[in-house]
Amino acid sequence: MNSIYICINFFNVMENIFNNTADAFVLKSDTELDRAYFLFKMIASEPLVRIGTAVTNFALKAHLPVEGLIRATVFDHFCGGTTEEDCLPVVDKMFTKGVSSVLDYSVEAKEDEAEFDKALEKTLKTITFAKEIKAIPFAVFKPTGFGRFDLYVKLGEGKKFTLEEAAEWNRVIHRFETVCKAAHDNDVALLIDAEESWMQDAADEIVAHMMVKYNREKPIVFNTLQMYRHDRLDYLKKLHKQADAEGFYIGMKIVRGAYMEKENKRAAEMGYPSPICISKEATDINYNDAIAYMAEHIDRMAIFAGTHNEDSSYKLMKLMKKNGLATNDNRIWFGQLYGMSDNISFNLAAHGYNVAKYLPFGPVRDVMPYLIRRAEENTSVAGQTSRELNLLSAERKRRKLEE
Ligand SMILES: Cc1cc2nc3c(=O)[nH]c(=O)nc-3n(C[C@H](O)[C@H](O)[C@H](O)COP(=O)(O)OP(=O)(O)OC[C@H]3O[C@@H](n4cnc5c(N)ncnc54)[C@H](O)[C@@H]3O)c2cc1C
Repeated sequence: MNSIYICINFFNVMENIFNNTADAFVLKSDTELDRAYFLFKMIASEPLVRIGTAVTNFALKAHLPVEGLIRATVFDHFCGGTTEEDCLPVVDKMFTKGVSSVLDYSVEAKEDEAEFDKALEKTLKTITFAKEIKAIPFAVFKPTGFGRFDLYVKLGEGKKFTLEEAAEWNRVIHRFETVCKAAHDNDVALLIDAEESWMQDAADEIVAHMMVKYNREKPIVFNTLQMYRHDRLDYLKKLHKQADAEGFYIGMKIVRGAYMEKENKRAAEMGYPSPICISKEATDINYNDAIAYMAEHIDRMAIFAGTHNEDSSYKLMKLMKKNGLATNDNRIWFGQLYGMSDNISFNLAAHGYNVAKYLPFGPVRDVMPYLIRRAEENTSVAGQTSRELNLLSAERKRRKLEE
């Protein structure tokens, strides 16, 4: 009887925690709350996002003075600042409520050696930050931040490199090696993002190699699995076998995946079967199966569940309970993006779970592709935006009633 009561009580508590708007927005002033509300209202309109994107791109190319406007609106909502140091007040503030940060150098679509070296330098710097600052438990980078997209593709397709390309690829490997070694030597976990499937095989190969090398004592190097791909659970199981046989640990960020339209379009155009699950439901099942598999084999793994999905977050909480894991077990982290799903992040942290928000930073104009993706994602995922709006609206009402 007693255990049934505890069980029911646990699920009741879980079902309500993400609706607590007071905890979710505890760090937002009334003005910030209003700004977030109007921002999401604008983002909800597809024509407005389309026009806004075109106008902003034009204004930036024409060197019109729009950076101030971008900063005061989307940038400050979704980013921590233009430099690592800029981000620190946000990092400290979130940590007062138990929410950690992952500093994410979000400069995208740069394709030259100087930029790759800069991304390397930035990642090394965030590893140093993470070593020194408790509120920053992970560092992160994107494979295409370290090397040319086409090079990954060529290798993945099994094509031969020219001599010049081989030398270029060696520099890519060297960058991976440098950051993974630094992460290991400084005892800082390192997340590596996943990108388009047609470049990912080559990235997976390097990351698996880094895990073999640097995850001997514990998970330091984390790859990312995009569970909208129907082949990823098999990949995880295969890697698990290898890890058991060779004695290394697996670190995995588990996400649904951000490039679905691109993936389906390319597959249709080139006439191969799409790597994406047949429906959203199939992706959801695949995602939940992956976190279940990892939670059951946590002796050899660590999970970073990068999701804004409440159901999957509940599932992971239940899995932790089922497998007898403490809420703050260091092998399990929940992750959301800064500026989104504070109701998940702050309520999980209030209940003692490990939570970290990706906190993007970089020069305003270079971060624009990231911001545009956020706006488009929130427009296309109508459910996500209306959830944000409902929560923000509920909190505004709650505060008015309190006055
Ligand atoms: C901390 C963090 C780190 C991230 N890192 C990465 C990364 O490294 N690489 C990356 O690709 N993405 C990354 N993402 C983005 C992520 O992959 C998702 O795009 C985003 O989080 C939305 O998925 P969700 O689980 O939050 O929520 P939901 O709203 O439940 O799911 C939306 C997602 O479901 C999938 N989906 C939607 N419709 C369909 C359909 N018809 N058929 C099949 N699948 C469908 C798509 O993946 C879509 O993005 C990250 C997200 C977070 C929060």
